[in-house]
Amino acid sequence: MKVLGQHGYGKNILRDLISLGAFALFLSYFLVSYDVSEKFYEFSRMHENWELDEACLLLATVLPLCLAFFSMSRWNDCHALLKQANTDVLTGLFNRRKGREIIEEEVMRSTRYDGPLSLIIFDLDYFKRINDTYGHLVGDEVLKEVSTVAGKLIRNIDSLIRWGGEEFVVVCPGTDSDGAGQLAERIRQGIAKNEQTDIPKVTASFGVGQLQRSDDFFTLINAVDKNLYLAKKGGRNIVVS
Ligand code: GH3
Ligand code: MG
Ligand code: MG
Repeated sequence: MKVLGQHGYGKNILRDLISLGAFALFLSYFLVSYDVSEKFYEFSRMHENWELDEACLLLATVLPLCLAFFSMSRWNDCHALLKQANTDVLTGLFNRRKGREIIEEEVMRSTRYDGPLSLIIFDLDYFKRINDTYGHLVGDEVLKEVSTVAGKLIRNIDSLIRWGGEEFVVVCPGTDSDGAGQLAERIRQGIAKNEQTDIPKVTASFGVGQLQRSDDFFTLINAVDKNLYLAKKGGRNIVVS
């Protein structure tokens, strides 16, 4: 499964590097124009017993190390927060916010390079009954199990997203609707034939669609959603491409 990405980070890093470079230039200009090193040298000669040269050396070693440590821990914090913001708490899949970002990016890539892109949307059948019969906690376990089953069946270039309650999206880059249809069928069977006995049996209905030349994010989602609707109308536990 695609690892959580860091879309949009590049711009911030570039901005920070430019700011740091500009600050370093300004500082160098200041040090050179006011002869700071010469003045410091004279000052340290006047107070030789203060061992200022040793202190300088120590500062020059410790300060960059502290800065490096601080930057790394800030970077890790940001990374953890970003991961949280992109992840669905229950299933650990990409959440809808991140999912939309991924789909929009893939639509842009596919339009630019003229490669195929397909989407699968699937929705669990009569899921409300499972909650009503066994309770919400069991319902949650079913959602987790479905995520695991689907996650094992997709390729590592595909992305699995929890789109809403009991609705999931698979983004399939470089795949036409035939390929996505076959993948949807494998996931459908994987869910329907799941051997896990601790949770109630469940099935899902699937809509599949390929990006067309005139499509954008909304029209693609709408087209696939229509096929999902047809799958529900057609009796559920089926794939409609
Ligand atoms: P259909 O086959 O037409 O899709 O029927 P359905 O019962 O699956 O659809 P419906 O939209 O009527 O019900 C969806 C249910 O999903 C209702 C809601 O309580 C449940 N649900 C949504 N999110 C969660 C969740 O995070 N955990 C649990 N346990 N249930 C959830
Ligand atoms: Mg449902
Ligand atoms: Mg639903």
